Amino acid sequence: MIIVLKPNATTNQVEQLNETLKTYNVEIKRWDGVHSTVIGLLGDTHTVDIEQIGANLAVESVKRVQEPYKLANRKFHPDNTVIKVGDATFGDGSLTIIAGPCSVETEAQIVEVAERVKAAGAKMLRGGAFKPRTSPYSFQGLRADGLKLLLKAKEETGLPIITEIMSSSHIDLFEDVDIIQVGARNMQNFELLKELGKTNKPILLKRGLANTIDETLMSAEYIMAEGNLNVILCERGIRTFETSTRNTLDISAIPMFKMLSHLPVVIDPSHAAGIPQLVEPLSMASIGAGADGLMIEVHNCPSKALSDGAQSLDPDTFDGIASRIIKAHDQGFSYRYNV
Ligand code: PEP
Ligand code: MN
Repeated sequence: MIIVLKPNATTNQVEQLNETLKTYNVEIKRWDGVHSTVIGLLGDTHTVDIEQIGANLAVESVKRVQEPYKLANRKFHPDNTVIKVGDATFGDGSLTIIAGPCSVETEAQIVEVAERVKAAGAKMLRGGAFKPRTSPYSFQGLRADGLKLLLKAKEETGLPIITEIMSSSHIDLFEDVDIIQVGARNMQNFELLKELGKTNKPILLKRGLANTIDETLMSAEYIMAEGNLNVILCERGIRTFETSTRNTLDISAIPMFKMLSHLPVVIDPSHAAGIPQLVEPLSMASIGAGADGLMIEVHNCPSKALSDGAQSLDPDTFDGIASRIIKAHDQGFSYRYNV
């Protein structure tokens, strides 16, 4: 249930309202937005008397929220959530590019890629240390050693880092990681989501291979319900009948997420397409539809990559693509969802 306060509500009136709300067995959250103040009631609200609340002089409107996600819901939090890590900002209208290899392989590899993507305009470095591979016989990542190499690249370049977690038993290892990624295959690993909700790290939550927009928002809700409100949604392509691309990028997910939620949205065109030639057009389409960021796979030598070389860009190609995307965004090619 959400209660929107009148802009001119007095402190006395708001206090009276709070007293009324405390008589119900619900959690009370308050957001002071730029345009309005919203009070959200979470939990079992069916006993809450809408008319009694609406009669309070501080209240402009009160309504029940049908959607099962509350904290992630735009209705509870009309302003965009803005998440900042180092020079990378998500959700304030800027475009933030995250780039790096699928997997961290060696110190020389990750440091070289970090330097090249930084020079091209990327604001964050990606690189998998714990890899969710379809086959148990494929390269599984350097695991804890990979995290150390990512930290080395961060030290060398100053770029904040993002990397995927696969088990809550590894959370302590991620202490110096700037954003923790939850991969598509773990989007509904609810125990992992709950544990990440107890941390204060920003979480990039990838949409599952065959999950709906509502299911993705419910997974965000799992993290937020534990107290961590710093969630970034990531569309990375979904399974369809189409086989010419690795997945099908759901461009509609961008305006849908923006309409339904206040959380920032990042697009991963590399895993969506599976081929490097589609990274630029899909990136352009994404910023045109209002994405807050892009996450792109770049390898110093894609033909020798230990994972996802076939979809990775080499640094020279990334350089050209990043500059064209950044230029287009700077020139105003970016859809702004009107709150
Ligand atoms: C990745 O980003 O390296 C990855 C494994 O992506 P996804 O979870 O989207 O498949
Ligand atoms: Mn990959």
